[in-house]
Amino acid sequence: MSFASTPARTRALISLCSLAAASVGAQPPTRAPQAPPSPQERLVTAMHGISSNVILDWVKELTSEKFGGRLTGTPGYDSAAAWSVALLRGWGYQPAGDKGTWYQKFPNPYTLVRPGTELSLHLPLSGGEIMKSYTWEKEFFQGSTSDSGRVTAEAVYVGYGITAPELGYDDYAGVDVKGKIVVLEPEAPIGPEPDTALFKKWRPYSFHDYKISNAAKHGAAGMVYDYHIANPNARFVKGLILTYVSRVVMDDLFTGLPVSHRQTLDQIRSALKPASRPLGKTMTLANNTQYHPEGIGSNVIAILPGSDPALKDEYIVLGAHLDHLGYNHELMPGAHDNASGVATLLAAAEAIARAKVPMKRSVLLLLFGAEEQGVAGSEYYVAHPVVPNAKIKAFLNLESVGRGERIGVSSGKEYPETYGAMERANTQYVHRAIGAFSNLNLARPRQDAAHFLWAKIPTVSIGTSGAPPLPFASYHTSKDTWQILTPEIMEDLAQIVFLATVDLANR
Ligand SMILES: [Zn+2]
Repeated sequence: MSFASTPARTRALISLCSLAAASVGAQPPTRAPQAPPSPQERLVTAMHGISSNVILDWVKELTSEKFGGRLTGTPGYDSAAAWSVALLRGWGYQPAGDKGTWYQKFPNPYTLVRPGTELSLHLPLSGGEIMKSYTWEKEFFQGSTSDSGRVTAEAVYVGYGITAPELGYDDYAGVDVKGKIVVLEPEAPIGPEPDTALFKKWRPYSFHDYKISNAAKHGAAGMVYDYHIANPNARFVKGLILTYVSRVVMDDLFTGLPVSHRQTLDQIRSALKPASRPLGKTMTLANNTQYHPEGIGSNVIAILPGSDPALKDEYIVLGAHLDHLGYNHELMPGAHDNASGVATLLAAAEAIARAKVPMKRSVLLLLFGAEEQGVAGSEYYVAHPVVPNAKIKAFLNLESVGRGERIGVSSGKEYPETYGAMERANTQYVHRAIGAFSNLNLARPRQDAAHFLWAKIPTVSIGTSGAPPLPFASYHTSKDTWQILTPEIMEDLAQIVFLATVDLANR
């Protein structure tokens, strides 16, 4: 690709040189030597060297079977990290991880989810029962941190699965769930708006991890979660079989009862009072998993030092999470989430290195592990930074940037300097629909940007939107493949990120 993007001027110089070499001994050419390209010309050439074909090829590579869905802790993730490092090394970046390596390692237990799963509802019928079995992915996923095994038991609805004495709220009060299957909701009965102070009291109870351990604490043998995606964002709990289900399953669980699932939820939210109850049905959950408590995760960290003696100790940081979900029965490719972010970051990083324009500040690249496992890699990085957090002038995080026609910059309102650099690049060169919005990141952290924002580091998180709807669900499913992406938006965004980084590094 470097030859494809050879600037016209360089090609002209090459032909002049070959001309000179061919005529050794003859008179030197009388034409005046051409001036070397100016920094501005190099900038534009490097920008046009960014190619959607190359970016899409990288997405295909990252989402291929050989990286196994990039679950942090697995050999597939480590191979994807090594693949990224090989590119960065080739472009002249320097390692900035542990002890002179490219990697920052951290403890990261993980669970492999294997084929062999079942979800069925036992429906009583006069003289016996029939089983309604559900379809993997279409109607349910294995819990990505479930224990391995099978449980058949009575289902008990426990609302949000929250026990919060200080809030006078307990979904487990008055119901016996020992040895049974609890059925529950994600998040909390109230959201961050309009009463932010009140929400902050509920926030600790909105984490998947909390809900799963609270179910286990109350003696549940199984848990059915009204959250229809594959999701490893929780700790493994021994003895708990965990299944993530669709609305169809939830509605079936409430059939024959005086109130529907939807009505029950509305009731809990409006009264802020539990509505737990036995559902009068028996279910079977079976999962096939293997827990690895010894897992080690890593972030890839690379640096391109700046040229100014004083300003090179300040940093413009580009980040994207490299990991995804591994397998959940089938490969979870994670093309939009977040091979698109990694490939777009790499394209910008290549242009930065190749442009050779003056860069006063240094550029730091962070490819995070374990975003899908509770934003663990970025949390670890912020607590163990390789450069002082206070020296970060701007952090641009790329999260799911592969689909659509509009670029959205979350927290861009809070950090207008960073967003301004993106906007200038867009107005001058790229001409995409782009906008900033406000995000104070009040809910549980769901992106790597969260821990940086909480540490008061100037941070924006960039995403894309506006793609036509797909006839299937793609978020955290096996259908998040490269085929659903819009390569052009990744090229445009890589150009904007490249130009904004150079701007911010010199401003
Ligand atoms: Zn994700």
